[in-house]
Amino acid sequence: MTELEVRQRIIDLCLQMNETGLNQGTSGNISARYNDGMLITPSGIPYEALNPEDIAAVALDTDDLNWEGPYKPSSEWHFHKSILTANPALNAVVHTHSTFATVVSIARESIPACHYMIAAFGGNSVRCANYETFGTPELSAAITEAMKDRSACLLSNHGMIAGGHSLDNAMWAAIELETLAKQYYYAKLAGNMIVLPDDEMDRVIDKFKNYGQKSK
Ligand code: 13P
Ligand code: ZN
Repeated sequence: MTELEVRQRIIDLCLQMNETGLNQGTSGNISARYNDGMLITPSGIPYEALNPEDIAAVALDTDDLNWEGPYKPSSEWHFHKSILTANPALNAVVHTHSTFATVVSIARESIPACHYMIAAFGGNSVRCANYETFGTPELSAAITEAMKDRSACLLSNHGMIAGGHSLDNAMWAAIELETLAKQYYYAKLAGNMIVLPDDEMDRVIDKFKNYGQKSK
């Protein structure tokens, strides 16, 4: 994709995220790796008002914030930057305040292997990062811890993060995680929860390597 296409795709996915009810208002933010930096939504601007040139460009190779654009980048640039820097396999990050992921995050619970699709995030759970104030390096550190060997996490009393190998894959992951949070929430209400054992989750993780059309 050209830089313009990446910028436009970020905006399209922000609009989709709000139209489908996955997020609301200017909550949430989206980033994508581009060359040796990242492109990220600006802070606090309604998604409907965004044009491709409004997406901020942030350097990934410096410790402090080095950015270009007409508007300052998302207040969550810290964690977008550290996720993309720490995980070369992840090229895009979606952060939302989706309802069911946030409900589980308010209980400060990780989502266990209540469904085999949890394996899509790299292990036998999607962890909930410790609470830290939004937009801080402390939140970024808590997320790094929660995302060890995982491509997603919940954020205590806040929402969720999902990474992907592309922007579309990260949005797929965010929708999948919200679905799992919803299933977990209702399963808890239903009252009889059976969590899959680790050896079964290992088998599922292995099977995912050849899932779909990856091999014939
Ligand atoms: P920004 O508008 O700065 O991206 O903040 C939204 C948000 O979700 C903070 O956690
Ligand atoms: Zn947020």
